Amino acid sequence: MIKLYNTYSKKIEEFKPLKGNKVGMYTCGPTVYDYDHIGHAWNYTTADLLRRMLEYSGFKVKQVINITDVGHLTSDADTGEDKLEKSSRELGKTAQEIAVYFTKIYFENRKKLNLEKPWKIAKATGHIKEMIKLVQVLIDKGFAYQISDGIYFDTSKFPDYGKLSGNTLESLMEGARVEINPEKKNPTDFAVWKFSAENSKRQMEWDAFGKKGFPGWHIECSAMSMKYLGPTFDIHTGGEDNIFPHHESEIAQSECATGQPLANYWFHTRFLMVDGMKMSKSLKNFYTLKDLEEKGYSAMDLRYLFLQAHYATPINFTWESLEAAKIARRKLNDFVAGIKSKGKVNNNYKDKFLEKINDDLDLPGALALVWIMIKDNRVSDFDKKTTLLDFDRVLGLNLAKQKKEKIPANVLKLVQDREVARKEKNWQKSDELRNEIDKLDYIVEDTNQGSIVRKK
Ligand SMILES: [Zn+2]
Repeated sequence: MIKLYNTYSKKIEEFKPLKGNKVGMYTCGPTVYDYDHIGHAWNYTTADLLRRMLEYSGFKVKQVINITDVGHLTSDADTGEDKLEKSSRELGKTAQEIAVYFTKIYFENRKKLNLEKPWKIAKATGHIKEMIKLVQVLIDKGFAYQISDGIYFDTSKFPDYGKLSGNTLESLMEGARVEINPEKKNPTDFAVWKFSAENSKRQMEWDAFGKKGFPGWHIECSAMSMKYLGPTFDIHTGGEDNIFPHHESEIAQSECATGQPLANYWFHTRFLMVDGMKMSKSLKNFYTLKDLEEKGYSAMDLRYLFLQAHYATPINFTWESLEAAKIARRKLNDFVAGIKSKGKVNNNYKDKFLEKINDDLDLPGALALVWIMIKDNRVSDFDKKTTLLDFDRVLGLNLAKQKKEKIPANVLKLVQDREVARKEKNWQKSDELRNEIDKLDYIVEDTNQGSIVRKK
């Protein structure tokens, strides 16, 4: 039995797909106007782990990921500049060039993090027709209305608006009273289509509803999920910050258009903090994968760090925890690479592993189990290797492709001598040996699983 926390019901539920062993999964992807940071990486990796867990458990997953390359304004309240057009102005490139460039970076980063390829990549600009059609359906059914700057969804027609984020329509209305657009029927109404401003020329705009305009941010996900996964699908994933207004609005649009529930399970990844604080450019604690690489860490070190956290709890990133993840990952790689032959999957550990990951994606528990098995003398090294490679279908650490780092014999000898000195509590000798190892350009680290050595 697979258990998952559902943001919609606020409960842990048993996962039951709509059709046999097939799972439809929609993942809110990036707005491609800037480099993605490690918080994004955390978000995409948890969705990847969910998908891998389902696949490992015998399901066939169709994952759709959208690329927002138009219509996401700088403010969530349908105001401000389009993020793509703003970035275009700032970087002196066309909006199209900005989108192509950052989409490329996004897929490079996915590859580095070893995230599985989506079944469908859906670009907003490639689905304008579908969005216009959907807006028209909402107008025809009386759920959307036109005012001078665009077409808006009438939230008073959808009493469940606010349910996903744990709000009531009344409380949201109260909170949105400070409103700058007096033409809107209700303060919570949101744009499904925006008209281009009369006095300015947008780079990306389309003819529809008698004017030039562009889609509201939320409508793309409704239109594209409907196209590829049908009116109702199994799992919708995204970051915690997508819950309101983005997913709340997706639900309203889709369900009013189709008369059916949008998704059966809502999976949300909590924030990534850095040193206990929210990551922001102004606090100078804002990191991209490139920043990590420049300090000698790989995306796979970060992936290992992510495996130690639970998606539904905020994760705290520190450089110390990344260093620890790097050491542990190398130890795991070396263990697997050091065993030459394969054996059989240990079913006892496999059952326990499955139990952990099926329990609301308890990866920290699954990873702890990996180390328990490595230390278990009753399991042969051959079987350990084969079992770890099997677990790696979920962990995604590329264990099969790792090569053991070749450490020269003279360095290994010094490490062994130092181990002996440490056992004898001869700290002076141990320190002298560490210095000698250091002079040969190697680093020795003491972990609770013994010493490990690597090139500087
Ligand atoms: Zn979305």
